[in-house]
Parts: sequence; C-alpha cells; structure tokens
Amino acid sequence: MDRLCIHSITNKPWSLETLIEKYIESNIPAVTIWEDVIEGHGARQAGDILEKSELKVVSYCRAGFFPDIDAVKRQETISRNKRMLEEASLLGAPLLVLVCGADPGQSLQQSRDQIKSGIEAILPFAENLGVKLAIEPLHPMYADTRSAINTLANANDLAESFDSEWIGVAVDVYHVWWDPELKTQILRCGRNGNILAFHICDWNVPTEDLLLDREIMGKGCIPVKQISKWMDEAGFTGYREVEIFSNRYWAQDQDVFLREIVTAYHKIYSIN
Ligand code: ZN
Repeated sequence: MDRLCIHSITNKPWSLETLIEKYIESNIPAVTIWEDVIEGHGARQAGDILEKSELKVVSYCRAGFFPDIDAVKRQETISRNKRMLEEASLLGAPLLVLVCGADPGQSLQQSRDQIKSGIEAILPFAENLGVKLAIEPLHPMYADTRSAINTLANANDLAESFDSEWIGVAVDVYHVWWDPELKTQILRCGRNGNILAFHICDWNVPTEDLLLDREIMGKGCIPVKQISKWMDEAGFTGYREVEIFSNRYWAQDQDVFLREIVTAYHKIYSIN
C-alpha cells in the first residue's frame, strides 16, 4: 500500500474533502490532484487542506495542449501552463503532468515542434518553482486533437532533447501497453533518470468509449504486472497511480469502487 496513489478523477463524484477522508480511511497514502476537484477552493486553500491531511500529493493533472494553428492561442496556452505550475506549487505537488496536445489543422510534425517550443517556454518557470514536468505519451488514437506524442520513444526523445532534470516522462499503461518496444523504452527512460510517474488502469474488452471506459487493473487485457516489473527493473521506486476515467464506475457507489481498486492493487502487487 505504501506506493499506492489514486487520481482524484478516479472518484470523480467525490469532493476534495470526501476523497481525503475516504483515502485516509482506506490507508491509501497518496493522491494526484485533477483541476476539477479544487475548483471550488482554489489551489491555495486546497493546498492548505491537503497539507493538514496525511495524504501526499504526487502530481497535478493536467497541463500541456500546446499546439494550435493560431499563435495567439498558443501564447494563451503558455500562460495557462504557467498558472498551473503555480497551482501545482501551492498544492504541494512536485510534478505537473503534460498532455501535449495536437491540432488537426496542421501536420503532426508542426504540432510536435509547437510542443517543444511550449515546453521550452515554461521550463525555466517550472525550475524556479521547483515543480517538474512529465511528458505523458498518449495512445495514437488520440493523435488528432489530444497528443502528437504517441509512443514512449517519442516522449523519451523529447525529454532527452532538453537535458534538464526538470523534465521527464509519465508512463501510463493505458497509452503504451500495445507498443512492441515498451520494455526497451521503459529501460531507456529509467537509465536516463526520466521516469517521473507511473499510471495504472486496464483496457476494457470490448471497450465502449475510447476515453471514458477505463477498467480496474486485472480486469482487462493490459499486462499491468509485467509492465510494473519492467518499471521496477528500470529503477522506478515512485508511486503507482490509479487513473481510471469511467462513466460506468462514476455512476456506481464510489465506496464499492474504491474497495475494488484496493483489492485489485493488492492482488497485482501481492500484498496480503
Ligand atoms: Zn495518465
């Protein structure tokens, strides 16, 4: 349990206060905060509430979305990313996760160039605040609008191009499980000290929604245990973050859902 973290969005129906209470009750040591759960509070107040709780804040989700054919909009996105870095700092989150973005009105290469420029623009700001940036490669089915960074190799190339300890990679099993190069790229990421986060869930078969039908680990076709072993081999010792977006589970009793998550986690990581 000491490495279990849950993304607030996994229990989307719960408020920040409820999440904290339920996770503490269930001996879950850590949380990753999504923007929506702190909306009513603002980052400073949410940061105070989290500091008083015993939960560790692992990261803040999610910034990025750099590409746009409109240069004015690209500039607005840079400002939004800087604001989110400040919020991460106020929340006590040492990491901001980047969903890099893509604009279908231009080539993927143009989107990739704009992602690189966007990260360049915010990196000094991140370093100043002491908040790291994690590039999360997204499954290629999202290459139209959500991310032009689609494999762990792409993410590794991009992270390495900065040569900065303030930027690395988030490995999310949902996005990378299919990749024949996965083990090689996880080990490369570890060798270069670039693994900053590990997100777990499962792929429902058949999947009903490509965004909002994620499954609990062990109930789909992703070899979560095998991938976790590669992460260990790569030297990753951070939190295993449960990130499940699911219309089905959000419509159910969240206490039951949370218990299922904890049981699944115990089973995969052989905790008695
Ligand atoms: Zn993720």
